Amino acid sequence: MNTKVELLNKEKPNMKVLEKAGKIIRNGGLVAFPTETVYGLGANALDDEAVQKIFIAKGRPQDNPLIIHVADFNIEQFVKEVPLIAKKMMEEFWPGPLTLIMKKSDEIPSVTSAGLESVGIRMPANNVAKGLIKEAGVPIAAPSANISGRPSPTEIERCIQDLDGKVDYIIGGEKCNVGLESTIVDCTVDPPCILRPGGITVEMLREIDDRVYIDPAIMKKPEENFKPKAPGMKYRHYAPKAPVKIITGDLKKSIAKIQEIVQNYIDANMKVGIMATDETIEEYSNAIIKSLGSREDLYSIGKNLFQVLREFDDEKVDIILSEAFDEKGMGIAIMNRLKKAAGFDIIKA
Ligand code: AMP
Ligand code: MG
Repeated sequence: MNTKVELLNKEKPNMKVLEKAGKIIRNGGLVAFPTETVYGLGANALDDEAVQKIFIAKGRPQDNPLIIHVADFNIEQFVKEVPLIAKKMMEEFWPGPLTLIMKKSDEIPSVTSAGLESVGIRMPANNVAKGLIKEAGVPIAAPSANISGRPSPTEIERCIQDLDGKVDYIIGGEKCNVGLESTIVDCTVDPPCILRPGGITVEMLREIDDRVYIDPAIMKKPEENFKPKAPGMKYRHYAPKAPVKIITGDLKKSIAKIQEIVQNYIDANMKVGIMATDETIEEYSNAIIKSLGSREDLYSIGKNLFQVLREFDDEKVDIILSEAFDEKGMGIAIMNRLKKAAGFDIIKA
């Protein structure tokens, strides 16, 4: 191991570790740390050289902007204005898995916003993340702590796997609660538009403004010349090494279809992984079968999704077949990540 790793208790993180990590950030270094969504790879958001290091460590395309993480509600200096709708959403959902896009001030270097005139801001709820930002004394730019294109890390082992030797410090230890990246809402437009679904659902946001809608482009297969409003949504993302196929339709029919496809692959001497659920796991055979969680609790599915994708990498399967979920509530975020992992390879049962 090349990078120093420090395990922390999220209820009561060791202050010495947070002080040291904060100092690294302040001095222009990189620290991987846990949030309630996924692990983040952080640098001082106001220091363009430090931010540049994030792009290099991850192999991230330069036109993919970073979200900045703050620990208090005083964000006026980072934006041109805080629209009323953003204020209401902050009051309701911060700290939490919600990123708000606003017009950026000159304090935010253009490398952080990837040349855009806007910036995404979020206040994480995890105590380690909050403590680190406070200790650093600066906002922290932090994309997910994985090599670009791979499933986001929700456990510290996966950060180490991707970033050992490439960053200055890795802290954390506990599995992320939400397991999917934050919901992103564009507050520079009226009505506000969801650019990426996540743990704060469209239904929850509509309690604040019933006109909130999801950018229709993001749930579809990207067309050529596709230019989503959230630049990151155009990249192949969340992808394990093996190809993923999603089987949609009535659950009973999907199970039968998956078993039929498994047989075809086995005949071709391939190792198959199946992403099932607690309710269906007993229905399959002749494959490596993992449950994502219970269909009764979509939050459990979101929490486990990236981890299970990575476990299939460890198992070196040749193909992954996944059940689908209703696109309601958390199901929207889950299906968004699954479809991207599958490159929109969807089979109707
Ligand atoms: P990651 O931190 O890897 O989860 O990626 C952050 C994502 O947030 C990017 O890929 C963009 O899609 C989105 N994003 C960040 N800043 C902006 C912005 N100013 N405008 C639109 N989307 C943004
Ligand atoms: Mg990411």
